[in-house]
Amino acid sequence: APLLEVSHVMKNYDGTRPALDDISFSIGKGEFVAVIGPSGAGKSTLLRCINRMIDVSDGEVRFEGVSVSQLNRRDLKKVRSKIGMIFQHYNLVERLTVIENVLHGRLGSKSTLSGALGRYSRDEKRQAMELISMLGLAEHVYQRCDRLSGGQKQRVGIARALVQDPKVILCDEPIASLDPNASKVIMEQLKRFSNEMHISLIVNLHQVDVALRYSDRILGVNKGRIVFDGRPSELSPER
Ligand code: ADP
Ligand code: ADP
Repeated sequence: APLLEVSHVMKNYDGTRPALDDISFSIGKGEFVAVIGPSGAGKSTLLRCINRMIDVSDGEVRFEGVSVSQLNRRDLKKVRSKIGMIFQHYNLVERLTVIENVLHGRLGSKSTLSGALGRYSRDEKRQAMELISMLGLAEHVYQRCDRLSGGQKQRVGIARALVQDPKVILCDEPIASLDPNASKVIMEQLKRFSNEMHISLIVNLHQVDVALRYSDRILGVNKGRIVFDGRPSELSPER
């Protein structure tokens, strides 16, 4: 079975036009999928349906063959630990340090946060340090996140997603707040981890050129529907 299968998903927030209208696709291990489309197309809703931050109105999301909407709280937590997420506005705890934020990815819930490093094992801390170094943030380990640049914050976001050893990472406009140089670093890091650790990526983007450059596959979404599903070369044959 594919890693992730989205079948006939509908999402209605209210009585009007559905935000997602019969979305179906599936994704294999290590695949790098860019989702492109205008603002309001439904990209962020799609990601939120995949990890069940919101419930679908109809249809089904299956992760490793298991229907996500059927899971009880405990099993949903287990599935979510294999689904990392990174955000446009990073969603870090700004007053905490880099390593505290990265380790916090293990807990996955802000409500239990105290910032204490003592609760983590030496192994957990070592693994977090390794990831932080791999992302080029070694000299910032004990710096508070509110002192970092946007690009550095997003690298913390990537480390926090990776620390739980996910199978897939959902990225909601990860470079929308970054300048071109920082964007390039983030896209290259995402690509590198996807290749080296065989992690699948679903990356919402509004820059078509970035999608063409980095992804293996592009899903074009408009008005809640998939309007394109293919390789970058099919979207832009001259490349
Ligand atoms: P995108 O990420 O492509 O910009 P969204 O998924 O954010 O698109 O939005 C898709 C549609 O759903 C838009 O019309 C948006 O206004 C609507 N929408 C998104 N979130 C909500 C919400 N929480 N409640 C009601 N409508 C929403
Ligand atoms: P972004 O484009 O960064 O996702 P949005 O403005 O689309 O930001 O959404 C910001 C928040 O507002 C999200 O939590 C989304 O669910 C919510 N939202 C978006 N559109 C609507 C809407 N029409 N009604 C209610 N909430 C919405």
